[in-house]
Amino acid sequence: MSEKTLFQKIIDREIPADIVYEDEFCAAFRDIQPQAPVHILIVPKKPIPRVGDAVAEDQAQLGALLLAAGKVAEAEGVRSTDKGFRLVINQGRDGGETVPHLHVHLLAGRPLEWPPG
Ligand code: AMP
Repeated sequence: MSEKTLFQKIIDREIPADIVYEDEFCAAFRDIQPQAPVHILIVPKKPIPRVGDAVAEDQAQLGALLLAAGKVAEAEGVRSTDKGFRLVINQGRDGGETVPHLHVHLLAGRPLEWPPG
């Protein structure tokens, strides 16, 4: 069996993190190097390496990430459209991926520029 990813170890409480949400399919915890006042990572419990590696049988995990994002945004007080948030998934070198376990960044709490850097 392949070694656990960093994020699997967080989900399994082997590495400490500020976990703010959890359900059957995913968990969410605060990013250790926040890029905005609210910066939360939403991670499937199944260690899909990156979005481009997901397959049809991962549909429930993928859907759960977006449903969790809405719940986390609500809990953080940023779901309303007068505030708002951004979801980001990085893949590969040019995308800025550094942890090979699929995760959605939820960023909020300040105006976010577009296009991103
Ligand atoms: P990415 O660059 O899209 O792969 O995002 C990986 C994210 O994981 C970065 O924003 C890191 O700051 C974050 N990160 C790395 N290690 C930890 C950790 N132990 N706890 C919480 N976030 C982490």
